[in-house]
Amino acid sequence: MHVALVTVGDELLAGETVNTNAAWLGRRLAERGADLERVTVVPDRVADIAQVVNEYRATYDAVIVTGGLGPTHDDVTMEAVAAAFGTELAPSAEVAEWLETEGGYSADDLAEGTTHIPKGSQLLRNPNGVAPGCQIDSVYVLAGLPDEMRGMFEEIAAEFTGTARHVEVVETSEPESALLDRVQTLREEFDVKVGSYPGENVRLRVEGTEEQTVTEAMAWLRERVETPADEANSTN
Ligand code: ATP
Ligand code: MG
Repeated sequence: MHVALVTVGDELLAGETVNTNAAWLGRRLAERGADLERVTVVPDRVADIAQVVNEYRATYDAVIVTGGLGPTHDDVTMEAVAAAFGTELAPSAEVAEWLETEGGYSADDLAEGTTHIPKGSQLLRNPNGVAPGCQIDSVYVLAGLPDEMRGMFEEIAAEFTGTARHVEVVETSEPESALLDRVQTLREEFDVKVGSYPGENVRLRVEGTEEQTVTEAMAWLRERVETPADEANSTN
């Protein structure tokens, strides 16, 4: 399953808030075997949000949108998603009932607009907050606060499916340039994806859909690269 993510917020673009929602969702979707293939950051502006939502829903199996819910003036995500579907916001009885039974709010307490979601959408419950999310076709709208976003994603996690992938990692003290020949042979001999991530040591990451293949590929590799432990032993 191919998924795109739209993270909304001027503060993300300005670097004032780190986009931890993108990292968390990327990991969670990968765990489920779904492929997150696009992450876009857009400002709190209706036209910009609507444009990418429309582009992505035409291309991907599902689109997740986070941030910019709630009734404050700079929260325009719901309006933008409605615009992307050529519709408008409308009060939802489902949302009002949820706010009343689980939020403990009566209709009179609620600020104007609190129960509005795009026409034709369904409530997506927010177990850790009071801003409702929504689902319309393949588009899922989640809150921006990380704790709320995570709670909402878990409500819909089962909809994100794919082939589970197996991953193993080995660290090596050899420089990346010295490893090219073995990485190339590994990729030719085994049906796996290989990633190489430099740092203090280089991390070689092997990923595949067959656990057995990944185990064999990793065993092959471990025999052929020098690990930090080997190096420590040889200098003793
Ligand atoms: P709520 O209705 O609960 O306020 P919201 O959907 O309106 O949530 P925002 O107003 O966009 O969310 O942001 C709420 C908080 O969450 C802000 O502090 C914001 O910086 C943070 N936040 C928003 N998006 C992200 C993100 N992608 N990663 C990390 N933090 C985020
Ligand atoms: Mg808000």
